[in-house]
Amino acid sequence: MRLGIYGGTFDPIHIGHLRMAVEVQEKFSLDKVMLIPCNTPPHKENGAAASTRDRLAMVRMAVEGRAGLEASDMEIRQGGPSYTVATLEALQSPEREIFFILGLDAFLEIHTWREYERLFSLAHFLVLARPWQGGRAEMFHVEHYIRKNLAGLAVPEPDGGYFRTMHTNKRIYFAQTTALDISATHIRKAVNQGKSIAFLAPESVEEYIKRQGLYL
Ligand code: ATP
Repeated sequence: MRLGIYGGTFDPIHIGHLRMAVEVQEKFSLDKVMLIPCNTPPHKENGAAASTRDRLAMVRMAVEGRAGLEASDMEIRQGGPSYTVATLEALQSPEREIFFILGLDAFLEIHTWREYERLFSLAHFLVLARPWQGGRAEMFHVEHYIRKNLAGLAVPEPDGGYFRTMHTNKRIYFAQTTALDISATHIRKAVNQGKSIAFLAPESVEEYIKRQGLYL
């Protein structure tokens, strides 16, 4: 099976995340996309604003009844800082081809991730451009980044729209998804200022935030 892994803080999950999951699932014919909220985000200085319990609950309600999308508590159950390398390692199985999904902004910091070189032997990468990052210029930018920070770990496949890793048989694909300029930061700020977040997050999530008094 072709399994998509989509990790994040999801603080809270929003329509940008969800739309991207759906489009990537269709584009790359993934049987399932697993959304995995992290326990402690190693990359966010101030940690998450909402508790792990609340973030997981919101991911669960956001994907409920959506065939092909699933919430996983594996990183939360694991505890401690969540490292993608450990998650991808734990998911290895001969029956699965794993596709790790992330935004371009996250990809361009991947050399700071734990054991980043090994990541590229554990999964294909699906790098999704955020609204303002589409275009060819970004491909050159990415190529430069890979050369400079990832020790030339991958090379572009001419006309293929993807990079080929040098020492494994994995690929790094780039794709654009519908431009939705929404961030969890913006949502937290809006809630904090008493503004509406209608249509930025699923209704169930919006109601949960209200009910639990999150982000005030
Ligand atoms: P924050 O604003 O708190 O930093 P975020 O909205 O960026 O949060 P994360 O949970 O940190 O959300 O992101 C998880 C993943 O989703 C990352 O790979 C990020 O690049 C991607 N992502 C976040 N928002 C969008 C969006 N609107 N469209 C496409 N990808 C997104």
